[in-house]
Amino acid sequence: MTYTYSGVELEERTCPHCGEELSPWIAPPESGWGVIVVCNNNKCPHYVGSDCDIVNKRDDSNLGCRYAENPDNKYTPFNLLAWTR
Ligand SMILES: [Zn+2]
Repeated sequence: MTYTYSGVELEERTCPHCGEELSPWIAPPESGWGVIVVCNNNKCPHYVGSDCDIVNKRDDSNLGCRYAENPDNKYTPFNLLAWTR
């Protein structure tokens, strides 16, 4: 199944870590991405674990990594750095 978001045709994708549907998100222009799809589940084990490498990550930082895929690049998975609350 595909759907259209902001003029971009996207596949319906689910997170391999938690099974949630990935939500489309328009990346900031400076990122060089267009529309990407992101797992926004705050209980996602990938996100909670945040075991990806964060440069200069400190224990008191509130950065985590959400699972994301880039439709412009054959839905290649990557870690989206995100603020946690
Ligand atoms: Zn997930």
